[in-house]
Amino acid sequence: MICQLRATLVGASRELRHQILPCFLLLLSTVSAVCAQTQPDDLRRRTHEALFASFLPVEELGPDKQDKALLIAAREGMWQKLHDDPRVAQLLAPFSDLRAFGPACGIDKIVNQARAPIFAQLSHDQQLQVLTKLTTCDQEFPRRLAATVRNFYLVTGYGAVQEQLTGVNIPKEAPAQYLKEHALRLPPSLLRYDDKKQEIGLQDGVLDTIVIGSGPAGSVLAHELRRGGKHVLLIDKGPLIIPGSIETRLTEALVDTRTSADGAIRIRNGMAVGGGSLVNVDLCFAPTSDAVRTKIEAWRRDRRIAKDQFTQSQVATAYAWVRKSIGTRELSESEINANNRVLWEGAKLAGMHPKLYSLNTFAPGTSPSPITDKRSALDQLLVEALQDKENSLSVLPNAEVRRVLFAEAKSGEPREAYGVEVVVHAASNDPGMVPDPNGLRMPADTKIVIRAKRIVLAAGALGSPTILLRSGVENNQIGRGVILHPSIPIMGLFDHTIDALKGTQASVFVDDKLVSDGYALEAMSAEPSYAAVMSPGSALHGFEMVKAFPNLAGFGVMLIDTVSESNRLRLDAQGQVEIEYVLSADDKNRLAKATAEAVRIMFLGGAKEVYVPTTETILDDEAKTNQLNAVVLTKPEQANLVEKNLQFIPNRTLLSSAHMQATDKMGSSAQNSVVGQDFHVWGTTALYVVDGSIFPTSIGANPMQSIYTIAKIAADELGKDK
Ligand SMILES: Cc1cc2nc3c(=O)[nH]c(=O)nc-3n(C[C@H](O)[C@H](O)[C@H](O)COP(=O)(O)OP(=O)(O)OC[C@H]3O[C@@H](n4cnc5c(N)ncnc54)[C@H](O)[C@@H]3O)c2cc1C
Repeated sequence: MICQLRATLVGASRELRHQILPCFLLLLSTVSAVCAQTQPDDLRRRTHEALFASFLPVEELGPDKQDKALLIAAREGMWQKLHDDPRVAQLLAPFSDLRAFGPACGIDKIVNQARAPIFAQLSHDQQLQVLTKLTTCDQEFPRRLAATVRNFYLVTGYGAVQEQLTGVNIPKEAPAQYLKEHALRLPPSLLRYDDKKQEIGLQDGVLDTIVIGSGPAGSVLAHELRRGGKHVLLIDKGPLIIPGSIETRLTEALVDTRTSADGAIRIRNGMAVGGGSLVNVDLCFAPTSDAVRTKIEAWRRDRRIAKDQFTQSQVATAYAWVRKSIGTRELSESEINANNRVLWEGAKLAGMHPKLYSLNTFAPGTSPSPITDKRSALDQLLVEALQDKENSLSVLPNAEVRRVLFAEAKSGEPREAYGVEVVVHAASNDPGMVPDPNGLRMPADTKIVIRAKRIVLAAGALGSPTILLRSGVENNQIGRGVILHPSIPIMGLFDHTIDALKGTQASVFVDDKLVSDGYALEAMSAEPSYAAVMSPGSALHGFEMVKAFPNLAGFGVMLIDTVSESNRLRLDAQGQVEIEYVLSADDKNRLAKATAEAVRIMFLGGAKEVYVPTTETILDDEAKTNQLNAVVLTKPEQANLVEKNLQFIPNRTLLSSAHMQATDKMGSSAQNSVVGQDFHVWGTTALYVVDGSIFPTSIGANPMQSIYTIAKIAADELGKDK
């Protein structure tokens, strides 16, 4: 068994190093900056073992258990793969001298009692007490540290052994034969790299348009603006992959994961050719729906958009093109799996009206890939355009645009964009990746310039404002009023098999309160390791959650948050973007109410126990112990306590966001917006933004289909110029 597991861990090593660890260490970067000191190897190992045992129950499981052997092998595998990673050293450093936390969280008392300041020297019980104090501390830094370390151990530790622990098969990579048969066959590149000038350009002539970012917006723009032989270069900082070669929805390396500045919300954005459409869950909310139409009409009333802009008929025509091009499909009730059935039945019993999604996926049994039903802008728009022999579109992956370059301008005159400064990063050679589609053979981390007649930013609500800020565009609206759609997952335990990863994983949503109260309930699924993350409690409880995975159902509550001027993106002293975001009191109230409703629906759907992802004190009669108690609800009436007591304390309640928007708002002047109604950036010429960042508020629902649609409308407009 151990030998088999070691083989699994060796196989998993790429994932541990390149996917899971960077994600958590990104979250930790602020935390670690406080802890410059690192530990010697032996102490670090003992700290690793002590932390591992605090989150995964190696101590509590009996000596003869097979599962215990699996956990020990996971612990050893983690150490082998990660012990010399400096970021792991940073992660563990704060545990080398607990006195650094001072008296604030009460850790000093434990240290004094034990007469030992080092975490690894404490008894197991004292270690758990320390972690509980950090988690429940009034100060932000200790809470954030505890949450980060916990997530790191649970995701990495259980991630390596979750299939053996649960018997659930999670295929992530297509066989070599598929890669061979589906390799991209691209015509000769139109690009050349001039290493003396450090420039990339066309072999012949000047680029008409550079599109930065290849998500739903950038892909539509690139696909449409190349019409008539116009030369378009699409740049993305993420990799290019062979569609269907990996399960991109489970590949963390294709996602930019970070948190809001206080660590409260885990924020995810796609980072690959295809952008969010390559990694997302494909849930489609039509831009013609009431929820979206209401928002667009409000923008018109506020004069953010012109009278005749984004009219219902214009949106409907563009959306028809999107549905056809992307392959949006309707579902039938026969596709509802047991997990989605819980939301379907529970919502009906609550007097609500559950609906079936439209999805941008292949229908069951029709996907060319043996491991995924995913469709994306990459396979639906870009591959076809790139493989076209008459093609005038080029794509440059792994290339991060640092800033837009402007010609000199007289004071008070608009600045004309003439190109971009790009850093081309090392490309991965992992199976399924297309590292150098243009055969340019550039050394890693080369900084280059690329010139074009027009620059369109489509780098998403995170990327586009970051580029504008780095480019020195003067407008204090950039990044202001960011929208996140904070979401909270709810899980329920059933007395029958649910098997959430079987069949069509998402088919049901409930939007009864989307327009009136600004929230929706949406079915979701995740890997077994996340069952432990989403029900914080003792190590044994986390283990039981992972083991119970086949009987767990889940859905999420998504909030349509309100614009607040103080929620904003800004650059820190090192030029890195920070997302300052605090949920308003009203948004918190609405989210608490929605969470309580989700709990009631989960019980109505048949759950025996319901779990809320928080370490806050929710149940009034909760026992005060040294260990964290998971919030395990056993009766529907307890939903009232959720509504009353849930405060959304940063790093105590798990919130996530995958719908960032509204960071370069469209409007009528530079005083209230970043782009005008023609998508151009105020104070510049030849520079545009077209993506989810231009929405003046939330779009009112999951944004992908609306972004595709607005991009089609913008492409039709921009296609008339130049
Ligand atoms: C995990 C996940 C699940 C989601 N599920 C759904 C769903 O089910 N339904 C739905 O409607 N929406 C969903 N979304 C949201 C949806 O995918 C996004 O709203 C949408 O992709 C945004 O489109 P965009 O074109 O504005 O930008 P993005 O898709 O974010 O694309 C921007 C691209 O720009 C690139 N980029 C950024 N900065 C730079 C730079 N400096 N240089 C070069 N390239 C850069 C990025 O790598 C990225 O590929 C999900 C998102 C995520 C992350």
